[in-house]
Amino acid sequence: MTRAWLAALGLAACHGAAPAPVAVAPPPVVDAGVAIDAPPPVPTPILDAYAATAAQIIAHARADRGAFAKLGFLTDRIGNRLAGSPALDAAIAWAMDALAADGHPVTTEAVMVPHWRRGAERAQLVAPITRDLVMLGLGGSVGTPRGGVTAPVVVVHGWDELAARAAEVKGAIVLYDVAMPAWTEAGGSGYGDVVPFRGRGASAAAQLGAVAVLMRSVTAHSLRSPHTGAMRYADGVPRIPAAAITVEDAALIARLAAAGPVRVNLTMGAQLLPDAPSANVIAELRGRERPDELVVIGAHLDSWDVGQGAHDDGAGVVHVMQALTTLRALGLTPRRTIRVVLFTNEENGLRGGKGYAAAHGGDHHVALLESDSGGFAPRGFRVEAHGDAALRARLVEAAQLLAPLGAAAIEDDEAGADISPLVETGALGLGLHVDGRTYFDIHHTAADTLDKVDPQALADGVAAIAVMAYVLADAEPALAVTAPAPSTP
Ligand code: ZN
Ligand code: ZN
Repeated sequence: MTRAWLAALGLAACHGAAPAPVAVAPPPVVDAGVAIDAPPPVPTPILDAYAATAAQIIAHARADRGAFAKLGFLTDRIGNRLAGSPALDAAIAWAMDALAADGHPVTTEAVMVPHWRRGAERAQLVAPITRDLVMLGLGGSVGTPRGGVTAPVVVVHGWDELAARAAEVKGAIVLYDVAMPAWTEAGGSGYGDVVPFRGRGASAAAQLGAVAVLMRSVTAHSLRSPHTGAMRYADGVPRIPAAAITVEDAALIARLAAAGPVRVNLTMGAQLLPDAPSANVIAELRGRERPDELVVIGAHLDSWDVGQGAHDDGAGVVHVMQALTTLRALGLTPRRTIRVVLFTNEENGLRGGKGYAAAHGGDHHVALLESDSGGFAPRGFRVEAHGDAALRARLVEAAQLLAPLGAAAIEDDEAGADISPLVETGALGLGLHVDGRTYFDIHHTAADTLDKVDPQALADGVAAIAVMAYVLADAEPALAVTAPAPSTP
């Protein structure tokens, strides 16, 4: 997925599609304990300087269950927390208390957020058979008139087919039956391939006269769970209701439609209320030499309004909270300040990330690191180094400190949605990369719950973030962008 389409949609992604990992230097060939044809030794100042500290952080963090305890409270006691909901307010208050209890100075910064409410909703096949469909309205969708919308269904499998069947679409409900490719080790998830249908499918169909859209849920594996997510209307196009149905129900409709006419009733009580007050939560471990130089470690505190937001992004929230706590508990104070930012409203507005950038664009950000890919076993970091090859090489070296966690991979890919407004201005961005093979099975569903989170994998993520944040905040010279590649005219 490219930032270009994200920008075009105004949507945030909540994950990283993993490109091929970049290989680190292969080990020398060894015969009877003697290296043959080994490359000349490469200076390793970061490894030399930080190996002992990294080992100390990793040992402490791996044995600590503080992150999982925090996540237990956030998920079981507070639950899901969409922008504008009382639960998000409760999550903000909880995070402030938990950070203060761990000894960190805490502040909040006010941000206004969209306030979308789902309301009662239902979808039902009414011809050629009568059967309830399992559905979730898409975030931001308008509701339907009372009694819903009943119309024939036109099943399409892509943009070209939508255009080719434009004459049939007028007055119809369009079903985007587009399969998400399965996760692979080399290519990561296929999320970016299909999520544009969620983001702009409603307006594309409305331009042709459709009265509503359904979409096959954005997942490669389904146990009949519908997946919600953000959508956005284009200006100047009628706003029609949009909902996700399960993979199984999309397949059923497609089979029926291949044999004859199919009609569906879609009823949604969704409402967009006036913007609501919310806040980013900020806590710091103040640097010992240059406290005005900042390394941000962040995640988003809001979630969709189903499930518990355990992996998305409760895991990221407790990752960064516990990373700061780990360093403070060990008495490790880096040269620069490490700042935790718990962003509000990533899911349906990115107002927290935009608000932070507006308030702090003038601050000296050495690097910004985000965790928003789930609490799975860490594999390394996605980086946006802006073409600075020397910086990238030093990040590859720093990541070797995470080899004991299996988290030494450095990949070039988007770091994170919340930090993107500042990373786009040229700051170094990093995103925790995890073993995400099952993430999109539960992403944005009622099944994103605490039981899906492995406490050891979560603790390993804390370790990876704490080590990387400490090195970023302490290394001399700074691991910061100094020699970006010349921009093409
Ligand atoms: Zn999300
Ligand atoms: Zn997310």
